[in-house]
Amino acid sequence: MKAAALYARISADRRGNEAGVTRQIDECRAWAERNGVTVAEVYVDNDISAYRGKSRPEYRRMCEDVKASIRDGVIAWHLDRLHRNPIELEEFIVLIEATGAEVRTVTGGDYDLSTSDGRAMARVVGAFARKESEDKSRRIKSEQHQRAHAGKRSWGGTRAYGYSADHRKLVPKEGAIIKEAAKRILAGETLRSVCVDLNARHVPTVTGKEWTTTVLRRILTSGAISAQVVYQGEIVAPGDWPAVITPSETARLRTKLLDPARRTNRAPRRYPLMGLVRCGICGAKMVSRPRGDGARRYFCAKGPGFAGCGHMAILSEPLEQFVADAVLHRLDTPDLQRALLQQVSQDDEADALQRQIDDARVDLENLATVHGEGHITLAEWLAARKPIEARIDNAARYMSRLTRTTALEGFVGNSEALRGQWTSLGPARQRAIVAALIDHLTIASAVKGRNIFDPNRIGVLWRA
Ligand SMILES: [Zn+2]
Repeated sequence: MKAAALYARISADRRGNEAGVTRQIDECRAWAERNGVTVAEVYVDNDISAYRGKSRPEYRRMCEDVKASIRDGVIAWHLDRLHRNPIELEEFIVLIEATGAEVRTVTGGDYDLSTSDGRAMARVVGAFARKESEDKSRRIKSEQHQRAHAGKRSWGGTRAYGYSADHRKLVPKEGAIIKEAAKRILAGETLRSVCVDLNARHVPTVTGKEWTTTVLRRILTSGAISAQVVYQGEIVAPGDWPAVITPSETARLRTKLLDPARRTNRAPRRYPLMGLVRCGICGAKMVSRPRGDGARRYFCAKGPGFAGCGHMAILSEPLEQFVADAVLHRLDTPDLQRALLQQVSQDDEADALQRQIDDARVDLENLATVHGEGHITLAEWLAARKPIEARIDNAARYMSRLTRTTALEGFVGNSEALRGQWTSLGPARQRAIVAALIDHLTIASAVKGRNIFDPNRIGVLWRA
Protein backbone atom coordinates (compact mmCIF):
# COMPACT_ATOMS: atom_id res chain seq x y z
CA MET A 1 0.00 0.00 0.00
CA LYS A 2 1.48 3.30 -1.07
CA ALA A 3 -1.47 5.60 -0.49
CA ALA A 4 -3.71 4.06 2.09
CA ALA A 5 -6.93 5.47 3.47
CA LEU A 6 -7.20 5.47 7.22
CA TYR A 7 -10.80 5.20 8.30
CA ALA A 8 -12.08 5.86 11.83
CA ARG A 9 -15.57 6.14 13.14
CA ILE A 10 -16.90 7.59 16.36
CA SER A 11 -19.96 6.00 17.76
CA ALA A 12 -22.28 6.57 20.67
CA ASP A 13 -20.72 3.89 22.83
CA ARG A 14 -17.70 6.16 23.13
CA ARG A 15 -19.64 8.31 25.56
CA GLY A 16 -17.31 10.19 27.87
CA ASN A 17 -14.31 8.55 26.27
CA GLU A 18 -13.28 10.85 23.46
CA ALA A 19 -9.96 9.07 23.19
CA GLY A 20 -11.94 6.58 21.15
CA VAL A 21 -11.33 8.08 17.77
CA THR A 22 -7.92 9.39 18.70
CA ARG A 23 -6.90 5.92 19.71
CA GLN A 24 -8.25 4.38 16.52
CA ILE A 25 -6.25 6.83 14.46
CA ASP A 26 -3.11 6.52 16.59
CA GLU A 27 -3.12 2.74 16.47
CA CYS A 28 -3.77 2.69 12.75
CA ARG A 29 -0.91 5.12 12.18
CA ALA A 30 1.39 3.06 14.38
CA TRP A 31 0.42 -0.07 12.51
CA ALA A 32 1.07 1.66 9.19
CA GLU A 33 4.46 2.83 10.34
CA ARG A 34 5.45 -0.65 11.54
CA ASN A 35 4.39 -2.13 8.22
CA GLY A 36 5.89 0.54 5.99
CA VAL A 37 2.51 1.72 4.75
CA THR A 38 1.92 5.34 3.83
CA VAL A 39 -1.27 6.85 5.17
CA ALA A 40 -2.41 9.26 2.49
CA GLU A 41 -5.55 10.51 4.11
CA VAL A 42 -7.57 10.13 7.29
CA TYR A 43 -11.35 9.79 6.95
CA VAL A 44 -13.44 10.21 10.08
CA ASP A 45 -17.18 9.87 10.44
CA ASN A 46 -19.20 11.00 13.36
CA ASP A 47 -21.76 8.30 13.74
CA ILE A 48 -23.24 9.08 17.10
CA SER A 49 -26.74 8.06 16.29
CA ALA A 50 -27.56 5.48 13.68
CA TYR A 51 -30.98 7.08 13.45
CA ARG A 52 -29.65 10.46 12.46
CA GLY A 53 -26.27 9.91 10.87
CA LYS A 54 -27.03 7.28 8.33
CA SER A 55 -25.08 8.57 5.41
CA ARG A 56 -21.50 8.57 6.70
CA PRO A 57 -20.17 11.11 4.19
CA GLU A 58 -16.51 10.38 4.88
CA TYR A 59 -17.00 6.66 4.37
CA ARG A 60 -18.69 7.38 1.03
CA ARG A 61 -15.88 9.71 0.03
CA MET A 62 -13.31 7.08 0.95
CA CYS A 63 -15.09 4.46 -1.14
CA GLU A 64 -15.14 6.87 -4.08
CA ASP A 65 -11.43 7.45 -3.67
CA VAL A 66 -10.74 3.72 -3.55
CA LYS A 67 -12.91 3.23 -6.61
CA ALA A 68 -10.98 5.93 -8.44
CA SER A 69 -7.73 4.23 -7.35
CA ILE A 70 -6.65 7.38 -5.55
CA ARG A 71 -6.31 5.12 -2.52
CA ASP A 72 -4.91 1.63 -2.83
CA GLY A 73 -5.82 0.32 0.60
CA VAL A 74 -7.91 0.85 3.69
CA ILE A 75 -6.75 0.69 7.27
CA ALA A 76 -9.21 0.58 10.12
CA TRP A 77 -8.93 -0.20 13.77
CA HIS A 78 -11.50 -2.96 13.56
CA LEU A 79 -13.83 -4.13 10.83
CA ASP A 80 -16.79 -2.91 12.85
CA ARG A 81 -15.56 0.64 12.31
CA LEU A 82 -16.00 0.13 8.56
CA HIS A 83 -19.31 -1.68 8.41
CA ARG A 84 -22.44 -1.32 10.38
CA ASN A 85 -24.56 -3.87 8.53
CA PRO A 86 -24.35 -6.60 5.87
CA ILE A 87 -25.32 -4.33 3.01
CA GLU A 88 -22.39 -2.08 3.65
CA LEU A 89 -20.17 -5.12 4.02
CA GLU A 90 -21.32 -6.57 0.71
CA GLU A 91 -20.89 -3.30 -1.11
CA PHE A 92 -17.44 -3.03 0.33
CA ILE A 93 -16.47 -6.56 -0.76
CA VAL A 94 -17.58 -5.70 -4.31
CA LEU A 95 -15.49 -2.57 -4.21
CA ILE A 96 -12.43 -4.41 -2.90
CA GLU A 97 -12.73 -7.18 -5.47
CA ALA A 98 -13.10 -4.67 -8.28
CA THR A 99 -10.16 -2.53 -7.27
CA GLY A 100 -7.82 -5.01 -5.62
CA ALA A 101 -7.35 -2.58 -2.77
CA GLU A 102 -6.03 -4.08 0.41
CA VAL A 103 -7.87 -3.99 3.71
CA ARG A 104 -6.14 -4.20 7.04
CA THR A 105 -7.50 -3.97 10.51
CA VAL A 106 -5.20 -3.20 13.39
CA THR A 107 -6.93 -5.51 15.82
CA GLY A 108 -6.89 -8.41 13.35
CA GLY A 109 -10.53 -9.17 13.41
CA ASP A 110 -12.21 -12.38 12.52
CA TYR A 111 -13.02 -11.46 8.96
CA ASP A 112 -9.94 -9.77 7.66
CA LEU A 113 -10.98 -9.03 4.10
CA SER A 114 -7.40 -9.24 2.91
CA THR A 115 -7.39 -13.01 3.41
CA SER A 116 -9.50 -15.49 1.48
CA ASP A 117 -10.73 -16.96 4.74
CA GLY A 118 -11.80 -13.54 5.89
CA ARG A 119 -13.62 -12.87 2.64
CA ALA A 120 -15.39 -16.22 2.81
CA MET A 121 -16.43 -15.54 6.35
CA ALA A 122 -17.61 -12.07 5.51
CA ARG A 123 -19.65 -13.42 2.60
CA VAL A 124 -21.29 -16.03 4.79
CA VAL A 125 -22.34 -13.27 7.11
CA GLY A 126 -23.61 -11.18 4.23
CA ALA A 127 -25.40 -14.05 2.51
CA PHE A 128 -27.03 -15.11 5.73
CA ALA A 129 -28.36 -11.63 6.25
CA ARG A 130 -29.53 -11.27 2.61
CA LYS A 131 -31.37 -14.58 2.62
CA GLU A 132 -33.08 -13.76 5.87
CA SER A 133 -34.08 -10.27 5.07
CA GLU A 134 -35.43 -9.96 1.56
CA ASP A 135 -38.68 -8.67 2.89
CA LYS A 136 -37.43 -7.11 6.07
CA SER A 137 -36.13 -3.67 6.64
CA ARG A 138 -32.51 -2.83 6.49
CA ARG A 139 -32.59 -2.14 10.18
CA ILE A 140 -33.38 -5.70 10.99
CA LYS A 141 -30.45 -6.82 8.88
CA SER A 142 -28.22 -4.81 11.07
CA GLU A 143 -29.54 -6.84 13.95
CA GLN A 144 -28.65 -10.02 12.05
CA HIS A 145 -25.24 -8.62 11.48
CA GLN A 146 -25.01 -7.90 15.12
CA ARG A 147 -25.81 -11.51 15.95
CA ALA A 148 -23.49 -12.90 13.32
CA HIS A 149 -20.75 -10.50 14.12
CA ALA A 150 -20.90 -10.84 17.85
CA GLY A 151 -21.44 -14.58 17.46
CA LYS A 152 -22.19 -15.52 21.01
CA ARG A 153 -24.77 -12.77 21.38
CA SER A 154 -27.65 -14.58 19.77
CA TRP A 155 -31.02 -14.59 21.49
CA GLY A 156 -30.63 -18.34 21.67
CA GLY A 157 -28.11 -18.20 24.50
CA THR A 158 -29.13 -17.22 27.98
CA ARG A 159 -32.69 -16.00 27.87
CA ALA A 160 -32.97 -12.24 28.27
CA TYR A 161 -34.83 -11.19 31.41
CA GLY A 162 -38.38 -10.19 30.53
CA TYR A 163 -38.48 -12.22 27.32
CA SER A 164 -39.15 -15.73 26.08
CA ALA A 165 -36.14 -17.74 24.88
CA ASP A 166 -36.63 -16.66 21.25
CA HIS A 167 -37.09 -13.06 22.38
CA ARG A 168 -40.42 -12.85 20.58
CA LYS A 169 -42.75 -12.83 23.57
CA LEU A 170 -42.84 -10.94 26.83
CA VAL A 171 -42.78 -12.67 30.18
CA PRO A 172 -45.36 -10.48 31.91
CA LYS A 173 -44.15 -11.05 35.47
CA GLU A 174 -40.59 -10.09 34.56
CA GLY A 175 -41.73 -7.23 32.38
CA ALA A 176 -43.53 -5.82 35.40
CA ILE A 177 -40.30 -6.00 37.42
CA ILE A 178 -38.36 -4.21 34.67
CA LYS A 179 -41.01 -1.49 34.54
CA GLU A 180 -41.04 -1.12 38.28
CA ALA A 181 -37.25 -0.95 38.53
CA ALA A 182 -37.02 1.57 35.67
CA LYS A 183 -39.62 3.78 37.29
CA ARG A 184 -37.95 3.65 40.67
CA ILE A 185 -34.51 4.45 39.28
CA LEU A 186 -35.89 7.37 37.28
CA ALA A 187 -37.57 8.57 40.47
CA GLY A 188 -34.19 8.84 42.13
CA GLU A 189 -33.75 5.52 43.85
CA THR A 190 -30.36 3.82 43.70
CA LEU A 191 -29.62 0.57 41.89
CA ARG A 192 -28.55 -0.89 45.17
CA SER A 193 -31.74 -0.11 47.05
CA VAL A 194 -33.87 -1.58 44.26
CA CYS A 195 -31.73 -4.75 44.28
CA VAL A 196 -32.00 -5.07 48.04
CA ASP A 197 -35.76 -4.77 47.77
CA LEU A 198 -36.09 -7.30 44.92
CA ASN A 199 -34.00 -9.80 46.84
CA ALA A 200 -36.04 -9.23 49.99
CA ARG A 201 -39.16 -10.01 47.96
CA HIS A 202 -37.48 -13.15 46.59
CA VAL A 203 -37.89 -11.98 43.01
CA PRO A 204 -35.62 -14.28 40.98
CA THR A 205 -33.25 -13.15 38.23
CA VAL A 206 -33.12 -15.00 34.92
CA THR A 207 -30.47 -17.36 36.33
CA GLY A 208 -32.26 -17.73 39.65
CA LYS A 209 -29.47 -15.93 41.47
CA GLU A 210 -29.76 -12.80 43.60
CA TRP A 211 -29.99 -9.35 42.04
CA THR A 212 -26.78 -7.34 41.85
CA THR A 213 -26.34 -3.74 40.74
CA THR A 214 -24.33 -4.97 37.75
CA VAL A 215 -27.10 -7.25 36.54
CA LEU A 216 -29.82 -4.67 37.09
CA ARG A 217 -27.82 -1.91 35.41
CA ARG A 218 -27.18 -4.12 32.41
CA ILE A 219 -30.87 -4.86 31.99
CA LEU A 220 -32.04 -1.29 32.50
CA THR A 221 -29.47 0.30 30.20
CA SER A 222 -29.95 -2.23 27.46
CA GLY A 223 -31.86 -0.85 24.48
CA ALA A 224 -33.32 -4.32 24.05
CA ILE A 225 -36.03 -3.71 26.67
CA SER A 226 -37.34 -0.79 24.62
CA ALA A 227 -37.08 -2.89 21.45
CA GLN A 228 -33.96 -1.30 20.10
CA VAL A 229 -31.01 -3.07 18.53
CA VAL A 230 -27.81 -2.61 20.45
CA TYR A 231 -24.58 -3.23 18.63
CA GLN A 232 -21.42 -3.16 20.72
CA GLY A 233 -23.01 -1.05 23.40
CA GLU A 234 -24.54 1.42 21.00
CA ILE A 235 -28.21 1.71 20.06
CA VAL A 236 -28.32 1.37 16.29
CA ALA A 237 -31.87 0.67 15.17
CA PRO A 238 -35.40 -0.25 16.24
CA GLY A 239 -35.98 -3.96 16.73
CA ASP A 240 -39.05 -5.99 15.84
CA TRP A 241 -39.78 -7.55 19.22
CA PRO A 242 -42.14 -6.22 21.91
CA ALA A 243 -40.92 -3.40 24.14
CA VAL A 244 -41.18 -3.23 27.92
CA ILE A 245 -40.36 0.46 28.32
CA THR A 246 -40.16 3.37 25.87
CA PRO A 247 -36.99 4.46 24.01
CA SER A 248 -37.26 7.77 25.85
CA GLU A 249 -37.11 5.94 29.17
CA THR A 250 -34.12 3.95 27.93
CA ALA A 251 -32.36 7.18 26.96
CA ARG A 252 -32.96 8.61 30.42
CA LEU A 253 -31.88 5.41 32.15
CA ARG A 254 -28.70 5.32 30.08
CA THR A 255 -27.95 8.92 30.94
CA LYS A 256 -28.52 8.18 34.57
CA LEU A 257 -26.78 4.84 34.87
CA LEU A 258 -23.99 4.92 32.27
CA ASP A 259 -22.57 8.40 32.71
CA PRO A 260 -19.53 7.74 34.90
CA ALA A 261 -19.87 11.11 36.61
CA ARG A 262 -23.34 10.23 37.78
CA ARG A 263 -22.71 6.64 38.68
CA THR A 264 -23.43 5.83 42.29
CA ASN A 265 -22.44 2.56 43.82
CA ARG A 266 -22.76 3.99 47.27
CA ALA A 267 -24.84 2.34 49.92
CA PRO A 268 -28.27 3.92 50.24
CA ARG A 269 -28.35 6.92 52.50
CA ARG A 270 -29.15 6.16 56.07
CA TYR A 271 -30.20 9.78 56.32
CA PRO A 272 -33.11 10.33 53.97
CA LEU A 273 -33.29 14.04 54.76
CA MET A 274 -29.63 14.76 53.97
CA GLY A 275 -29.28 18.12 52.26
CA LEU A 276 -32.82 19.18 53.14
CA VAL A 277 -32.27 20.16 56.78
CA ARG A 278 -31.05 23.65 57.64
CA CYS A 279 -29.94 25.21 60.88
CA GLY A 280 -32.38 27.83 62.24
CA ILE A 281 -29.53 29.84 63.78
CA CYS A 282 -27.01 30.16 60.96
CA GLY A 283 -28.85 28.75 57.93
CA ALA A 284 -26.19 26.13 57.12
CA LYS A 285 -27.14 22.71 55.81
CA MET A 286 -27.01 20.25 58.64
CA VAL A 287 -25.00 17.07 58.20
CA SER A 288 -25.37 13.58 59.58
CA ARG A 289 -23.44 13.03 62.77
CA PRO A 290 -24.45 10.36 65.27
CA ARG A 291 -24.57 11.21 68.94
CA GLY A 292 -22.08 9.62 71.35
CA ASP A 293 -24.48 6.77 72.01
CA GLY A 294 -24.87 6.10 68.28
CA ALA A 295 -28.33 7.63 67.86
CA ARG A 296 -28.65 9.12 64.37
CA ARG A 297 -28.86 12.87 64.29
CA TYR A 298 -28.57 15.89 62.02
CA PHE A 299 -26.00 18.37 63.23
CA CYS A 300 -24.92 21.89 62.27
CA ALA A 301 -21.24 21.07 61.99
CA LYS A 302 -18.53 23.69 62.28
CA GLY A 303 -14.82 23.51 61.65
CA PRO A 304 -12.76 22.81 58.53
CA GLY A 305 -14.97 21.92 55.58
CA PHE A 306 -18.19 22.84 57.36
CA ALA A 307 -20.16 26.07 57.16
CA GLY A 308 -22.20 25.66 60.32
CA CYS A 309 -22.24 27.11 63.81
CA GLY A 310 -22.02 23.95 65.88
CA HIS A 311 -25.02 24.91 68.00
CA MET A 312 -27.84 22.92 66.50
CA ALA A 313 -28.69 19.25 66.53
CA ILE A 314 -31.82 17.20 66.12
CA LEU A 315 -32.42 13.48 66.39
CA SER A 316 -33.11 11.85 63.04
CA GLU A 317 -35.80 9.36 63.83
CA PRO A 318 -38.55 11.58 65.22
CA LEU A 319 -37.75 14.24 62.62
CA GLU A 320 -38.03 11.74 59.79
CA GLN A 321 -41.27 10.41 61.20
CA PHE A 322 -42.66 13.95 61.42
CA VAL A 323 -41.66 14.70 57.83
CA ALA A 324 -43.13 11.44 56.57
CA ASP A 325 -46.46 12.31 58.21
CA ALA A 326 -46.35 15.81 56.76
CA VAL A 327 -45.56 14.50 53.29
CA LEU A 328 -48.33 11.92 53.40
CA HIS A 329 -50.78 14.58 54.48
CA ARG A 330 -49.58 16.93 51.77
CA LEU A 331 -50.16 14.36 49.05
CA ASP A 332 -53.90 14.56 49.64
CA THR A 333 -54.19 18.35 49.47
CA PRO A 334 -55.94 19.79 46.41
CA ASP A 335 -53.25 22.48 46.17
CA LEU A 336 -50.60 19.93 45.42
CA GLN A 337 -52.72 18.08 42.92
CA ARG A 338 -53.34 21.32 41.07
CA ALA A 339 -49.67 22.24 41.11
CA LEU A 340 -48.64 18.91 39.70
CA LEU A 341 -51.29 18.98 37.03
CA GLN A 342 -49.98 22.34 35.89
CA GLN A 343 -46.59 20.93 35.09
CA VAL A 344 -46.13 20.61 31.37
CA SER A 345 -45.86 17.19 29.87
CA GLN A 346 -42.92 15.71 31.60
CA ASP A 347 -41.97 13.33 28.86
CA ASP A 348 -41.77 16.08 26.26
CA GLU A 349 -39.56 18.13 28.47
CA ALA A 350 -37.37 15.18 29.36
CA ASP A 351 -37.02 14.33 25.69
CA ALA A 352 -35.96 17.88 24.89
CA LEU A 353 -33.36 17.78 27.65
CA GLN A 354 -32.14 14.42 26.48
CA ARG A 355 -31.69 15.89 23.00
CA GLN A 356 -29.66 18.74 24.46
CA ILE A 357 -27.45 16.24 26.23
CA ASP A 358 -27.08 14.14 23.08
CA ASP A 359 -26.22 17.22 21.02
CA ALA A 360 -23.62 18.32 23.53
CA ARG A 361 -22.07 14.87 23.38
CA VAL A 362 -21.93 15.10 19.60
CA ASP A 363 -20.09 18.39 20.02
CA LEU A 364 -17.64 16.71 22.36
CA GLU A 365 -17.03 13.96 19.85
CA ASN A 366 -16.54 16.47 17.05
CA LEU A 367 -14.05 18.29 19.16
CA ALA A 368 -12.24 15.03 19.82
CA THR A 369 -12.07 14.48 16.08
CA VAL A 370 -10.52 17.86 15.51
CA HIS A 371 -7.99 17.11 18.21
CA GLY A 372 -7.47 13.61 16.88
CA GLU A 373 -6.58 15.03 13.50
CA GLY A 374 -4.05 17.30 15.11
CA HIS A 375 -5.77 20.60 14.35
CA ILE A 376 -5.82 21.70 17.98
CA THR A 377 -3.51 21.05 20.90
CA LEU A 378 -4.38 19.01 23.94
CA ALA A 379 -4.66 22.19 26.02
CA GLU A 380 -7.01 23.79 23.51
CA TRP A 381 -9.06 20.63 23.40
CA LEU A 382 -9.41 20.48 27.17
CA ALA A 383 -10.32 24.17 27.34
CA ALA A 384 -12.93 23.87 24.62
CA ARG A 385 -14.54 20.91 26.35
CA LYS A 386 -15.39 22.88 29.48
CA PRO A 387 -18.39 24.91 28.23
CA ILE A 388 -19.82 21.86 26.48
CA GLU A 389 -19.53 19.79 29.62
CA ALA A 390 -21.22 22.62 31.50
CA ARG A 391 -24.12 22.37 29.06
CA ILE A 392 -24.43 18.67 29.78
CA ASP A 393 -24.34 19.30 33.53
CA ASN A 394 -26.99 21.97 33.24
CA ALA A 395 -29.36 19.83 31.24
CA ALA A 396 -28.77 16.90 33.57
CA ARG A 397 -29.61 19.10 36.53
CA TYR A 398 -32.91 20.24 35.03
CA MET A 399 -33.63 16.66 34.15
CA SER A 400 -33.26 15.63 37.77
CA ARG A 401 -35.91 18.20 38.71
CA LEU A 402 -38.26 16.48 36.33
CA THR A 403 -38.02 13.34 38.40
CA ARG A 404 -40.31 15.18 40.82
CA THR A 405 -43.51 14.02 39.21
CA THR A 406 -42.07 10.59 38.50
CA ALA A 407 -41.26 10.21 42.20
CA LEU A 408 -44.84 11.02 43.13
CA GLU A 409 -46.55 9.10 40.39
CA GLY A 410 -49.41 7.00 41.68
CA PHE A 411 -49.30 8.55 45.12
CA VAL A 412 -50.87 11.99 44.63
CA GLY A 413 -54.32 12.01 46.21
CA ASN A 414 -53.66 8.49 47.37
CA SER A 415 -51.53 8.84 50.47
CA GLU A 416 -52.97 5.61 51.89
CA ALA A 417 -51.07 3.58 49.30
CA LEU A 418 -47.87 5.34 50.22
CA ARG A 419 -48.48 5.16 53.97
CA GLY A 420 -48.67 1.40 53.75
CA GLN A 421 -45.38 1.19 51.89
CA TRP A 422 -43.42 4.03 53.41
CA THR A 423 -41.17 2.18 55.84
CA SER A 424 -40.34 -0.48 53.25
CA LEU A 425 -39.36 2.07 50.62
CA GLY A 426 -35.80 2.60 51.81
CA PRO A 427 -34.02 5.91 52.40
CA ALA A 428 -33.21 6.64 48.74
CA ARG A 429 -36.81 6.39 47.58
CA GLN A 430 -38.10 8.18 50.67
CA ARG A 431 -35.71 10.98 49.97
CA ALA A 432 -36.82 11.23 46.35
CA ILE A 433 -40.42 11.61 47.46
CA VAL A 434 -39.66 14.08 50.25
CA ALA A 435 -37.44 16.18 47.98
CA ALA A 436 -40.19 16.25 45.38
CA LEU A 437 -42.45 18.00 47.87
CA ILE A 438 -40.22 19.88 50.29
CA ASP A 439 -37.66 22.51 49.39
CA HIS A 440 -36.06 22.42 52.82
CA LEU A 441 -36.67 22.16 56.56
CA THR A 442 -35.51 24.73 59.08
CA ILE A 443 -34.76 23.55 62.60
CA ALA A 444 -35.17 25.98 65.49
CA SER A 445 -33.40 25.74 68.84
CA ALA A 446 -34.85 23.42 71.43
CA VAL A 447 -36.56 24.87 74.46
CA LYS A 448 -34.25 24.33 77.42
CA GLY A 449 -35.19 21.44 79.64
CA ARG A 450 -37.49 19.79 77.10
CA ASN A 451 -36.09 16.48 76.07
CA ILE A 452 -39.02 15.15 74.10
CA PHE A 453 -39.41 15.76 70.41
CA ASP A 454 -40.95 19.17 69.77
CA PRO A 455 -42.62 19.56 66.36
CA ASN A 456 -42.71 23.33 66.86
CA ARG A 457 -38.97 23.38 66.19
CA ILE A 458 -39.51 22.35 62.59
CA GLY A 459 -40.31 24.76 59.78
CA VAL A 460 -41.28 23.23 56.46
CA LEU A 461 -40.85 25.11 53.19
CA TRP A 462 -43.01 23.30 50.66
CA ARG A 463 -42.25 23.41 47.00
CA ALA A 464 -44.92 24.99 44.86
ZN1 LIG B 1 -25.99 26.50 62.64
